[in-house]
Amino acid sequence: MTHRTDVLVIGGGATGAGVARDLSMRGVDVTLADRGGLSSGTTGRSHGLLHSGARYAEADEVGARECIAENRILREIAGHCVGDTGGLFVQLTEDDADYFDRKLAACREYGIPAEEITGDEARDRVPDLSADAERAMVVPDGVVYPSRLVAANAAAVERHGGTVLRNAPVESMTVDDDRLTGVRLGGDADTDVDATYVVNATGAWAGHVGEMAGVDVEMRPTRGVMVAVDYADLGPVLNRCRNPADGDIIIPHDDQVVLGTTSIVVDDPDDYPTEDEEVERMFAECGDMLPAVRDCETIRTWWGVRPLYAPDEASRGSQSGGEGANRGISRGFFVLDHEDEGVENFASVVGGKLTSYRLMAEETADLVADRLGVDEPCRTADEPLPGADDPGTLDGFVTTYEALSPTDEDVVAGD
Ligand SMILES: Cc1cc2nc3c(=O)[nH]c(=O)nc-3n(C[C@H](O)[C@H](O)[C@H](O)COP(=O)(O)OP(=O)(O)OC[C@H]3O[C@@H](n4cnc5c(N)ncnc54)[C@H](O)[C@@H]3O)c2cc1C
Repeated sequence: MTHRTDVLVIGGGATGAGVARDLSMRGVDVTLADRGGLSSGTTGRSHGLLHSGARYAEADEVGARECIAENRILREIAGHCVGDTGGLFVQLTEDDADYFDRKLAACREYGIPAEEITGDEARDRVPDLSADAERAMVVPDGVVYPSRLVAANAAAVERHGGTVLRNAPVESMTVDDDRLTGVRLGGDADTDVDATYVVNATGAWAGHVGEMAGVDVEMRPTRGVMVAVDYADLGPVLNRCRNPADGDIIIPHDDQVVLGTTSIVVDDPDDYPTEDEEVERMFAECGDMLPAVRDCETIRTWWGVRPLYAPDEASRGSQSGGEGANRGISRGFFVLDHEDEGVENFASVVGGKLTSYRLMAEETADLVADRLGVDEPCRTADEPLPGADDPGTLDGFVTTYEALSPTDEDVVAGD
């Protein structure tokens, strides 16, 4: 049996689901396929910070501006897929005051609302905040619940007439006369796909999928650990105000907080070591900001792999782990048109952040629409996601698309 579609999007993380939603809203017949449940890759195993852009402001103007723009859009369209917690960048006694001042100035220059408050004012907002907190910056960070976000994008695809396939791993691809002429999906899908255009949105796995079509997508994934502990009503996201390093972000959920994270290069995104020492480091480092977490019960621990594009990482000299001047620079994204390598109906989208998934999807969909001769513009920034105003509806989508994932399983009621 052969499944016919205009566009096959491979990878049901935020990026792939976003590309499929975008194209389906332009009237394109789309099929979205993931090897597992939706959100089962990095998206559902991330930290869940809806960046304001402040984290990148002093180092990366483009990334910072993208983040604040997408942060505002998601607050408008994504409803209960995000949480409006606000965020604090906290300067401890040992942290560089100049760094704080540079970040504050950059935020203001790039349109990221940022207000300086004293250590005591910060402790009024977060009573357990360290006595070493000298001052803080209030920014519009938030929380994103990736299971809901991806499931709502998938629901939009189906509402616009598209198809969403789970447990549908791409097993092989056929290239004839410079075109992808067939894609074999195994698993529950067990079908061949005949698509006019194919998008590879498989994140850290993009190299493996690209290889099946004979194109080189060189990825350099890095792993990171997250630890959820019992700690209720934190309030804002807490960021340590220093050069980005291990264990400098605490994300509030209702009755828990998520401590994270690390960044260590891995060879295989499906098979990498997980070290207890990295988990312990989360308690030590995050405990410097919020000492009470050191005594909290661990509820769960999970790891994710960043879909970093090797040529970009190499050009920035990024390094693994620890504090590093390059580590905090925005994880930029790349839309790779494989026509340049002789496969004219195939593109990959790699890199980026969960916060910027919609923009990544828009740029990818623009390329595909152009190739298909579709004139309809992108509307994803203007139309709310299905079910956005009702957590129950969103959680129903999470169940339908098997999208429940470690990042938000304490908040989301899907099963
Ligand atoms: C530790 C960590 C913390 C992070 N924290 C944040 C954060 O706080 N805020 C933020 O904005 N960003 C964060 N990120 C980055 C963000 O999570 C990712 O950039 C984003 O989720 C990537 O989404 P994606 O859809 O591109 O990839 P993925 O979510 O990985 O989706 C790719 C999909 O492709 C599927 N796939 C793979 N191979 C095949 C195949 N052969 N056939 C079919 N399907 C296949 C996978 O199952 C997967 O679902 C974090 C990343 C990590 C690792």
